[in-house]
Amino acid sequence: MKVANKLQDVQLRIQAACKKAGRQPNEVTVIAVTKYVSTERAQEALEAGITHLGENRDEGLSEKWDKLKGEPVWHFIGSLQTRKVKNIIDKASYIHSLDRLSLAKEINKRTKQPINCFIQVNVSGEESKHGLSPEEVIPFVKQLAEFEQIVVCGLMTMAPLTDDEKVLRSCFKKLKQLQVEVQQMKLPHAPCNELSMGMSNDYQLAIEEGATMIRIGTALVGE
Ligand SMILES: *Cc1c(COP(=O)(O)O)cnc(C)c1O
Repeated sequence: MKVANKLQDVQLRIQAACKKAGRQPNEVTVIAVTKYVSTERAQEALEAGITHLGENRDEGLSEKWDKLKGEPVWHFIGSLQTRKVKNIIDKASYIHSLDRLSLAKEINKRTKQPINCFIQVNVSGEESKHGLSPEEVIPFVKQLAEFEQIVVCGLMTMAPLTDDEKVLRSCFKKLKQLQVEVQQMKLPHAPCNELSMGMSNDYQLAIEEGATMIRIGTALVGE
């Protein structure tokens, strides 16, 4: 199916979720996750009106960057090895996976300008998942003050792979609650206005619970 048709469906669902939650669709940015698909398919997404693309590996980002350059706004959404920072730092406008000080230090050293970073939180506590535990988030945000180029634009999580609405909602609610806690500290380096949560399987619920950036692969660019 064409990306344009899939996008139409996604937009209808976003509108429905926003209506349910009393929000405006323009509060929600769609990131098309292109990690499974070709550069041509990513190009098709741009032609359909998508402006934000997400990749989870430095090779994937570099390959698509060669053709698309800075035309889309790039999001790096995968776990990031410190030694790979240099490969993505001039391409990505957002990094969704900041989860340790050593990574913050390297990002801070390599970037030429302030860069928006999401702190990845492992809300559900699954061992297979990356990210800080919820208790670690506030102390970590405070420690990031020393890295003058890092802007904590928001928090990111991946919900457990389940259809259980209760489990998903509780995960999203916890991230929202943490966001409010960070915002209340009013730290200049941590405005924390964004919530990166919601994937193909659960983005409507994520929007109802306050997502401002949703990361959609399969449902948007999958073939
Ligand atoms: C792959 C991926 C997505 C998109 O997953 P879909 O289920 O295909 O929508 C979103 N976020 C992250 C971090 C991913 O790795």
